Amino acid sequence: MPSTKSFQRWQIGEVTITRVIEMEVAGGTKFILPQANPSAVLEMPWLVPHFATPDGKLIMSIHALVIETKDRLMLVDTCIGNDKIRAIPNWHQLSLPFLEDLADAGYRCDQFDTVMCTHLHVDHVGWNTRLVEGVWVPTFPNARYLVAAEEFHYWQQAGPDERGDDIFGDSVAPVMEAGLMDLVEADHQVAPEVRLMPTPGHSPGHVSVHITSQGQRAVITGDCIHHPCQIEKTDWASTADFDQQASTETRQKFLAEFSDSPVLIIGTHFATPTAGFIKAQDGHHILEPYLST
Ligand SMILES: [Zn+2]
Repeated sequence: MPSTKSFQRWQIGEVTITRVIEMEVAGGTKFILPQANPSAVLEMPWLVPHFATPDGKLIMSIHALVIETKDRLMLVDTCIGNDKIRAIPNWHQLSLPFLEDLADAGYRCDQFDTVMCTHLHVDHVGWNTRLVEGVWVPTFPNARYLVAAEEFHYWQQAGPDERGDDIFGDSVAPVMEAGLMDLVEADHQVAPEVRLMPTPGHSPGHVSVHITSQGQRAVITGDCIHHPCQIEKTDWASTADFDQQASTETRQKFLAEFSDSPVLIIGTHFATPTAGFIKAQDGHHILEPYLST
């Protein structure tokens, strides 16, 4: 798979947010959002061309987001990772240049002081660790890794997932054992400009990340909104949602809070341009893409 060098950057006051892509894919999302068949997708023409193809296939991205303040360097969600044994063939034992791309964006692993996982699913924790001489070691040795306590405790007792992937064992437990993990409240203030906000439903302790600086604001969604189509169709819950009723309620609350506001919504799986503003339109909501430079 070719390396993706298209870094997307947003400025929120004095905070810089940078997207580093691990992989971007069109189609193959039927198992995540079963209602999103091509004809239903094309009933939402605002999704094309950024978030769906002209023939109605959803486009999704797996990426990490770097938050840089004047004295902090933080990473939100760590994608799938390399060398992990995974049941999904396209995610199995990857060998992708993610860390090289992170370096090309200007960030070395040892510079990060904080790593945040919005939740502990397979595509959000992978680069927490990397394989060194057969052992999973923390990729970001100088970072505190923050995980909502409720999320951690749920997955700690859950064991390997239904496909047999030992996500907790290879990507979470080694960080805890290395003494680098802090379990926090779902509304934890991470830095003066950055706080977690609880958005449960996709997983038990799911959080989004709120950024504010000099009166400007942004929110990194995590998977409470997997794909922008769920902004119009809030009841299109993901098959991966732990509690579909709760995830739908979280989406509705999220839209009520941020619709027609100047808060930039940055999606954890939204394809390029990845960010936009939520607008009320004809009795529903849409994401108006923010086409930055
Ligand atoms: Zn995800």
